Amino acid sequence: MADCIFCRIVSGGLPAAKVLETPRVLAFLDIAPVNYGHTLVIPKEHHENLLDLPDDLWTEIGRVSRQVARALQKALYARGFNIGMNNFEAAGQEVFHAHVHVIPRHTHDGLQLFPQGVYQPGDMEKVGLQLRQALGGR
Ligand code: 5GP
Ligand code: ZN
Repeated sequence: MADCIFCRIVSGGLPAAKVLETPRVLAFLDIAPVNYGHTLVIPKEHHENLLDLPDDLWTEIGRVSRQVARALQKALYARGFNIGMNNFEAAGQEVFHAHVHVIPRHTHDGLQLFPQGVYQPGDMEKVGLQLRQALGGR
């Protein structure tokens, strides 16, 4: 897609610090890292989000994400890593070309994950039922 920045990175029209390339997947450094080494793993083909990705391509993205994670441990001494993916605007997706964030983590790096809450009494059972029904069960 001509107006997609990640497609332009794939085609070489925009520069990027590439870290790994396979025939169908590219990994490069995020321009605004949560921590140094924060890497984006994308399909070379334009797909907007996880739900649009063919299963085999999602598998390949997962494989490359794990390779990147191991490299973050080896090269940057990451003690852990977070894998994240924002899908759709409501979830904070800003670039509508599917991408997985691989974020290196260090002990006491001060980063906080999503704040967590509690279910009101009975709601956990109701939500579980809604999801099972949506998935074709009961
Ligand atoms: P999203 O919120 O869509 O999951 O995240 C998009 C990510 O792409 C952001 O973390 C942002 O810093 C990164 N990004 C946006 N534009 C560019 C760019 O031109 N080059 C690189 N390397 N990363 C970008
Ligand atoms: Zn694209």
